Amino acid sequence: MRAIEQLIRPELLSLKPYSSARDEFQGRADVFIDANENPFENGVNRYPDPLQRALKKRISEIKNLPEDQIFLGNGSDEVLDLIFRLFCVPGKDAVIITPPTYGMYKVLAGINNIFVKSVNLTSDFQLQHDAILKTYDRETKLLFLCSPNNPVGISLHQDTVEHIIDQFPGIVVIDEAYIDFSNQPGFMELISGKPNLIVVQTLSKAWGMAGIRLGMAFTNSYIVSALNKIKPPYNVNVLTQRRSLQGLENIGEFTKNIEIIKSEKDRVGKILATLPMVERVFDSDANFLLVKFDDCMRYFNGLKNEGIIVRDRSQQQGCAGCLRITIGTPEENDKLIKWLVK
Ligand SMILES: *Cc1c(COP(=O)(O)O)cnc(C)c1O
Repeated sequence: MRAIEQLIRPELLSLKPYSSARDEFQGRADVFIDANENPFENGVNRYPDPLQRALKKRISEIKNLPEDQIFLGNGSDEVLDLIFRLFCVPGKDAVIITPPTYGMYKVLAGINNIFVKSVNLTSDFQLQHDAILKTYDRETKLLFLCSPNNPVGISLHQDTVEHIIDQFPGIVVIDEAYIDFSNQPGFMELISGKPNLIVVQTLSKAWGMAGIRLGMAFTNSYIVSALNKIKPPYNVNVLTQRRSLQGLENIGEFTKNIEIIKSEKDRVGKILATLPMVERVFDSDANFLLVKFDDCMRYFNGLKNEGIIVRDRSQQQGCAGCLRITIGTPEENDKLIKWLVK
């Protein structure tokens, strides 16, 4: 791979970041009159910890990774946007995506004026190893992989991904939004040996906290420091830091919900596979099923009229005729099945 300093936008290497009041003084004191806050206590009158230390300590225990290798943002969307901004020069640089994949990578590229090169997944939704490496050039800074993949739910083969990380000269970002539903180990363990790897996760799915917006990047401490330098100083608000910590204490609830969702996914998948209008239920390591129907819009609209909303993914690369169905509560899943069976 190329040296990280050569991949980061040169003007950011020398950027002097904003220094907040809470960056400049972090010790204990009786009187804080340095940040123009309102002094009257209401639970949220103080600025948040810009580096989210308490929250990172807890995440560090759960993920078994040092705190200085953790970066937090306002949802994965902010984390991914900052990764674009750290590495890609607008109007010049490019990224590689592997459709079908999460739609935000392309949108963020558009917002940041970055070229997108697509190397489609194979028909069984795996990486085209050689084509990806051939598509790389000097201007290509990032490769976005999503595993388990959205919208298909299938995990990328571990050995192919490892090989690509070793051979790709730029940064490889692996989006593991669904990893906690998977029986695969994922790619966190590779971080210490691969300086060009960033793993992105979120509290929005398995942890059940989509509403508070907390995204996480795990990588080496050099990239974490560089991201800290360019992030908005107070990007993770007080309520999110507090509620995340509370949610992350409750491992019992987390594990229980995942087990229910996984067993419901098996149940729903088996039933759907027996229905005459269903042509295929794709394997899924996530909390949703991609389902191919004989006439998907008929079922999409029929379900919608019943107040059951699924996601039309039929326009996505390799997903013709497919709807994406998130696994709900057992009662919600029963409603879906009942309507389809009738
Ligand atoms: C849902 C999802 C996310 C989560 O994004 P947040 O901004 O953290 O809510 C990230 N990546 C993928 C592939 C997703 O499907």
